[in-house]
Amino acid sequence: MSGLGQRLGRLKSILRTAGERPMEWLSPAVTGCMLCGKTVLPQQGDSYPERGMASYRQLRQATCVSCFVSIPWLDRIQCEICGRGVSCGDCLRRTERHFVCNRSAVGYSSAMREWLAMYKYRGHERLAPLLAEMLVPVFIRLTEETGVFSYKRGRIGLREGPGRGLQRFKQWVHHAWNPYADLSRSWDAITYVPISGERAQERGFNQAQQLALHLADKFEIPIYDLLRRDRHTEKMSFKTRAERQRDSRSLFTGNEAQIRKLESRTPANTEAYRILLIDDIYTTGSTAEACAVALIHCASRPVHLYTLTWARS
Ligand SMILES: [Zn+2]
Ligand SMILES: [Zn+2]
Repeated sequence: MSGLGQRLGRLKSILRTAGERPMEWLSPAVTGCMLCGKTVLPQQGDSYPERGMASYRQLRQATCVSCFVSIPWLDRIQCEICGRGVSCGDCLRRTERHFVCNRSAVGYSSAMREWLAMYKYRGHERLAPLLAEMLVPVFIRLTEETGVFSYKRGRIGLREGPGRGLQRFKQWVHHAWNPYADLSRSWDAITYVPISGERAQERGFNQAQQLALHLADKFEIPIYDLLRRDRHTEKMSFKTRAERQRDSRSLFTGNEAQIRKLESRTPANTEAYRILLIDDIYTTGSTAEACAVALIHCASRPVHLYTLTWARS
């Protein structure tokens, strides 16, 4: 590489690191572990993947060592469809699938169940950014695997076409300035699994929406409320697999107004909408399936729905 090339490369990496800005929830005011309250010791010796590294670092700063090491990251997956760390009967049994695939940040261990319960049921809403930040590395991996724009492969994707001359230079500057530009532009929308009105009232918030808002804000991806939950069902966790699948089938409908809004803002040459659906847990995939069916039914162009969930149970 030429001297100039190296200098430019260095500038680019400085800009990229600067783009991974620290967030206010990890201000120095945090003294104890956000999860268990134990003292957090300063930690060193990071060796994390380049992009998304800031997320791991922030998590380490917000949690004590024992909480941090208890996170069962799902970074080696066996099932390409549901993102499980072990091979998978559910996906083989499924005869029809309308969503593309699921990826999850962590396995649903007892520690993760406890963290999610603190957040969802015990009023620790302040955990939202921490849990959402755990989605960042897997979001980056998913987008790099499937995205239209690929930073890693050094290629500008289909929608924009490879630039020439000045256009190409502008694209390069844009990428250098915004480390997430390629990731952001790979998605037409982020949306989330809605909860019932009754559940929203008792909890005060929708966890999937909070996780989605965090990602949408961080990566500057438009967020839409694309789905409606039609009827209240009992807690899914008390049901058998067959019961869940039957119940989920008619649980969602597309939110027409929001879908029209998305359509009006998407470039006319878009062949299919690439939509990222956020939820807290992926269990059998029946929620993802029902949401995909509802969106496909309402949208005027094909929908490629990917789901990103916090835990894979
Ligand atoms: Zn802790
Ligand atoms: Zn699977």
